[in-house]
Amino acid sequence: MSYISEKVAYLDGLAEGLSIDDSKEGKLLRSIIDVLGSIAEQLEEHDEALDDVNDCVEDLYETLDEDDKDQDGDEDQEFFEIVCPSCGETIYFDEDMLDSKDGLICPCCNEPIEINLVNGNEIEIGDPEDENK
Ligand SMILES: [Zn+2]
Repeated sequence: MSYISEKVAYLDGLAEGLSIDDSKEGKLLRSIIDVLGSIAEQLEEHDEALDDVNDCVEDLYETLDEDDKDQDGDEDQEFFEIVCPSCGETIYFDEDMLDSKDGLICPCCNEPIEINLVNGNEIEIGDPEDENK
């Protein structure tokens, strides 16, 4: 139980002990204590939700840290953005995938994509019609 809930429970007990009668003031006091109880309950729910969010954020940070360590050796890793000539989706490949013998397969339409490396860091999408230039 949270600190505030304990306080409210204490007030509740106090009201009980004082045997507050059913006068207007008595009803008002009981209502106030009721409302306080609701607020305390809500606060506790929010605290729990906040704890959950905190756990998630911590997990995310841990995952990010691990990813950072994984990539320490590959600082030069570059990603290439390609618009698939078959389906028009923008897709991303890293250098390792460019070097693969199987060539690139669009993850969207599963069509092979022919590309040419230009200057080592720019790519052109292969297009037979342009070969005569
Ligand atoms: Zn495609």
